[in-house]
Amino acid sequence: MSESGPLVMIVSGPSGSGKSTLVEKILELPGTMLSVSCTTRAPRKTESDGKWYNFVSESEFQQMVETGQFLEYAQVFGKNWYGTPKKWLDAATQQGLDLVLEIDVQGALQVRRRLPGSVAIFVLPPSRQDLEKRIRARGQDSDDEISRRLDRAREEMLSYSSYDFAVINDNLERAGREIQAIAMGSRCRVTRNEDRIREILKSFGG
Ligand code: 5GP
Repeated sequence: MSESGPLVMIVSGPSGSGKSTLVEKILELPGTMLSVSCTTRAPRKTESDGKWYNFVSESEFQQMVETGQFLEYAQVFGKNWYGTPKKWLDAATQQGLDLVLEIDVQGALQVRRRLPGSVAIFVLPPSRQDLEKRIRARGQDSDDEISRRLDRAREEMLSYSSYDFAVINDNLERAGREIQAIAMGSRCRVTRNEDRIREILKSFGG
């Protein structure tokens, strides 16, 4: 039997590593959809509700936890809560789409435990200097927030060995091609295609 359910692709990486842009590259591939996380973080100036996040209050988030609505959830930077609603997995299953999760390392470990067939991709910046430059250029975070994110980046990157793939984002075009190749390659895994392979063999007389 083939692995059932959608192909779940987890993308993690330090804030500012360009992982959202790379997630968009995966979403350019037909047959993919994004899991929109819930978060208690306040929206940034450029963010609107429902595109990358659904912004919820702490009590709404807590209620979702208590009613078992999350596939995974975690407190990130020891501050705000983020979670992946299970409903996206159901939607992907119903529509026959592959599901892309942009989540942190803690969430990735939870998803891998629940869905061992998921594929985990780690996006790394080429250096600390490069990451700091990118976060500052975004101009959305206070100095406090920036130093918290840089400290956290190192900590997160130490978990690289829990992932299947690493994409080093020193050149966006190449990194984009790499992440699309990972997505397409993962679709071709034998374990995801055994039913179809058997059908083909049957057409040859078994
Ligand atoms: P930001 O606040 O910069 O949008 O995201 C902060 C961190 O939270 C990022 O590492 C991002 O990948 C992670 N994150 C976003 N959504 C989720 C989620 O649903 N679950 C978990 N565990 N982490 C998330």
